[in-house]
Amino acid sequence: MLKLYNSLSRTKEEFKPIKEGQVKMYTCGPTVYWYAHIGNMRAYIFMDILRRVLKYNGYKVNGVMNITDVGHKTSDEDAGEDKMVVAATREHKSVYKIAEFYTKHFMEDIQALNIGKPEHIVKATEHIKEMQQIVMTLLKKGFAYELDDGIYFDVSKFPSYGSLSGIKADDRLAGARVEINEQKRNPADFALWKKAEPNHIMQWESPWGMGYPGWHIECSAMSRKYLGDHFDIHTGGIDHLTIHHENEIAQNDCSCGHKSVNYWIHSEFLLVDGGKMSKSLGNVYTVPELVSRGFKALDYRYFCLNTHYHNKLNFTFAGLDSAKIGYERLRNLVLLHKTGENKVNAETLEKYHALFLDAINDDLNLPKALGIVWEMLKTEEKSEDIYNLTVEFDSVFGLDLDKAEVENQKQEIPQIVVELANQRLLARKNKDFALSDKLREELKQNGYAVKDNALGYELTKI
Ligand code: AMP
Ligand code: ZN
Repeated sequence: MLKLYNSLSRTKEEFKPIKEGQVKMYTCGPTVYWYAHIGNMRAYIFMDILRRVLKYNGYKVNGVMNITDVGHKTSDEDAGEDKMVVAATREHKSVYKIAEFYTKHFMEDIQALNIGKPEHIVKATEHIKEMQQIVMTLLKKGFAYELDDGIYFDVSKFPSYGSLSGIKADDRLAGARVEINEQKRNPADFALWKKAEPNHIMQWESPWGMGYPGWHIECSAMSRKYLGDHFDIHTGGIDHLTIHHENEIAQNDCSCGHKSVNYWIHSEFLLVDGGKMSKSLGNVYTVPELVSRGFKALDYRYFCLNTHYHNKLNFTFAGLDSAKIGYERLRNLVLLHKTGENKVNAETLEKYHALFLDAINDDLNLPKALGIVWEMLKTEEKSEDIYNLTVEFDSVFGLDLDKAEVENQKQEIPQIVVELANQRLLARKNKDFALSDKLREELKQNGYAVKDNALGYELTKI
């Protein structure tokens, strides 16, 4: 039985699809105004793992992900400038060229990370009509109203507004730093459609004059076009829960007249060095950047899989180094089994299979599932049966374990050595140099020399 944590009920629930054997799932995609960073990629790795687990359980998945190429303001609360317009001005390119450029990079990154593409990847700018239709329905049903600068959703007409986050409409925006439109009926009312100034770069004809959509309406229009008015799962990063997803629920439920999504599932944030990634700190890393520093994209995937999606994950280069070493060791063990001649009895294999299934079906407990694979691979008698089962499990991990190559064998570093090196790194961080020297000596006794570098450390065999 597959259990998933539903942000709507704030509990782990048994997953029951609307239609037997099928899952309709929507994921908020990237705003293509800049390179996607490794935090964004954590959200898409989560989406991918969920899709893989659903497929492992025999479901046919129909997934949709949007590409936001218009309408996402620099603040989620409709304030600031359109991120796409800012990028076009910065790079002296058309908005469409910007979207094309960063979408291409995004696609390359997800491919490098083995993130399977959802069945439909769709652009906001190609769904303007569908967005306008929902706005018209909301106006007709009395959930929206027109102001000088656009059409707004009236949150007071939707009493359950805020039920996803637990933040009621009345408690919103008090003291927030957004420019409040004085004409709005309620501070939390949000723009469905904005009327454009004559010189605004992107604008379309509409029943309300030339204009452009609000960001939230995009996801409503694209999810419903491809998945219908009622679908199973909606995913996104945790930062979208309080505003973007509340607004999607309001738009969908009020225009269709019923609940539109059964399970809302959110992935937690990636921190860098314990804090937020920010350009000013110079710590907004991308996948190609990790690769240029000597990592494989899949080292980062392995790094992510070791933390449950529901927990914050702190990125450091030392952590990524450990993941790289762990992943290498894993591949080496897989290789040893590939040519293993021992037979493993069916009962033992079934035991591992059951443990694995329990772990992934317990709200995608991938760290536990990986632990089970490690345990299985550490079996003394190497066996092709274990190799085959590992490759089957890898349909969920997506770590290319069947492609492990012999060359990795020579690089295997004993776990004890990695642990000592990590302890030493920590000691250095804490400026405990006496301990650090002691650990260097212990490493030497274990046959390894350690050298510090910008990424943490490098180990070489003496
Ligand atoms: P955006 O393009 O800003 O809408 O972000 C794309 C996806 O990445 C969304 O699902 C966000 O919630 C997610 N995201 C943004 N920053 C981070 C982060 N630091 N860690 C994890 N996910 C993030
Ligand atoms: Zn969205």
